Amino acid sequence: MSQIIEERSDKKVKIVSACLMGCQCRYDKKDNRVEQIEQLVKEGKAVPVCPEQLGGLPTPRPPAEIVGGDGFDVLDGKARVIDDRGNDVTADFIQGAQQALRIAQTAGAAEAVLKERSPSCGSAAIYDGTFSKTKRTGVGVTAALFIRNGIAVTSEEN
Ligand code: SF4
Repeated sequence: MSQIIEERSDKKVKIVSACLMGCQCRYDKKDNRVEQIEQLVKEGKAVPVCPEQLGGLPTPRPPAEIVGGDGFDVLDGKARVIDDRGNDVTADFIQGAQQALRIAQTAGAAEAVLKERSPSCGSAAIYDGTFSKTKRTGVGVTAALFIRNGIAVTSEEN
């Protein structure tokens, strides 16, 4: 029994963005499938989550960007997440991040591979809130919450 527990604790599961394993959960109902990430899930080495769906947002949904900062600023109440119709979806993004964190902690994940440039999942860059495809340095809301809770975040581009 103790050997089984030891083996399980050695098995480091990762959290991955669900769109990276081929789920059509993007705002436009498409995916960002990466074969290696799909393989990790098939092998039981990764657990897929889509924070925006976990936050209760529909698919498809209007694209959203962080206005006034990045994911850390959203968590601190200093920036908002706004969709391209002007709706404030900040609460949905925070709720999705919290649910994703709950899954990560329950699964014992210490690392996440998340989709770059997403307002939820971006880990190095996000869009700047002007809906002009302009990028800025920063992290998404879920990536920020993961980092604050000790989960290392990288992207599919690393
Ligand atoms: Fe992919 Fe993350 Fe966007 Fe969901 S929230 S579609 S997992 S990038």
